[in-house]
Amino acid sequence: TATDRTPAESTANPLVAATAAGHHRILTGDRPTGPLHLGHYFGTLRNRVELQSRGLELMIVIPDYQAITDRDRADRPAEHAEELVLDYLAAGVDPERATIFTHSAVPALNQLLLPFLSLVSVAELSRNPTVKDEIAHSRQSTVSGLMFTYPVHQAADILFCKADLVPVGQDQLPHLEVTRTIARRFNDRYTTLFPEPQALLSRAPLLLGTDGGKMSKSRGNAVTLGATADETARLLRGAVTDPDRHITYDPEHRPGVSNLLLLTALCQDRDPHAVAAEIGNGGAALLKRTATEAVNEHFRPLRARRAELAADRTVLREVLHAGNARANAVADRTLTEVRAAMGTF
Ligand code: ATP
Ligand code: MG
Repeated sequence: TATDRTPAESTANPLVAATAAGHHRILTGDRPTGPLHLGHYFGTLRNRVELQSRGLELMIVIPDYQAITDRDRADRPAEHAEELVLDYLAAGVDPERATIFTHSAVPALNQLLLPFLSLVSVAELSRNPTVKDEIAHSRQSTVSGLMFTYPVHQAADILFCKADLVPVGQDQLPHLEVTRTIARRFNDRYTTLFPEPQALLSRAPLLLGTDGGKMSKSRGNAVTLGATADETARLLRGAVTDPDRHITYDPEHRPGVSNLLLLTALCQDRDPHAVAAEIGNGGAALLKRTATEAVNEHFRPLRARRAELAADRTVLREVLHAGNARANAVADRTLTEVRAAMGTF
């Protein structure tokens, strides 16, 4: 059953419970650019597992074409995709009920992209704050058309299965607005076909990395789910904090310290203020040791499961194979509906 997977998944979240009640199908995804990290787990992955255990249908897209938005060539996307499946299963996603697929294996998604592109303006695409941030961190000297238009193909990734709930981190909110706009305009212009999906943020919509910026797979600042206890200790020891001896939870003025307090609180299902009060004048060194212990303790069962699952890669490939087949059937059906609604195609 869902409740005996990992300790975290049994922790009821009232917001998730309330949101689950009015929704049917979840879609989210992760780029195949590296292994998942603590930001993914507390930002969206834990919510996906909880929503699935509450009976919602879970779809997970691995948007492999999105790997070439901010770099010239994708680095081993198929290998990274398998690694993502491993992280999902280790975190408690039930592969029997979830549909996990890669974007490139579902060609109808790209046919949905063209009519969807006609529903947004260039001005709307150019003012997207997440796209601007990604351009700032990009490995390319030029900005490609894909960088500006990937939020639209992401709309196809969400709408093809008529998902109504999208558990994401904060950086995804502008993209979800694009999806909602496209759904609304399509419904107004042609026929009502798509729900306007709602975003679901967690208690940690923007977990910071060791450098103080958003924890990201591609920025070398992440603690991965599969990291060893020693790696975790080394990475968190190097996290940016501030020189204050007295530890307080104040995300606005003490972001580095507050991030470690929040991380500890999430692992132990506590209030970050209570963690701060306990550390008091112990300083950043004690805070980092406390956070390390909390992370290593919380993720021990997940990491053990991950190591077990890693022994058989064929299972991971089979999960993707089955997911791709299911996603294709759904996408073909939606494409037929879209063409019929548009009349001329
Ligand atoms: P990359 O650096 O390659 O873009 P990423 O770490 O940003 O990788 P994505 O695949 O872009 O990961 O994002 C997958 C999902 O995880 C999205 O819903 C995103 O909002 C969420 N997410 C990513 N990083 C964080 C974070 N630091 N805190 C909370 N949620 C996050
Ligand atoms: Mg990202």
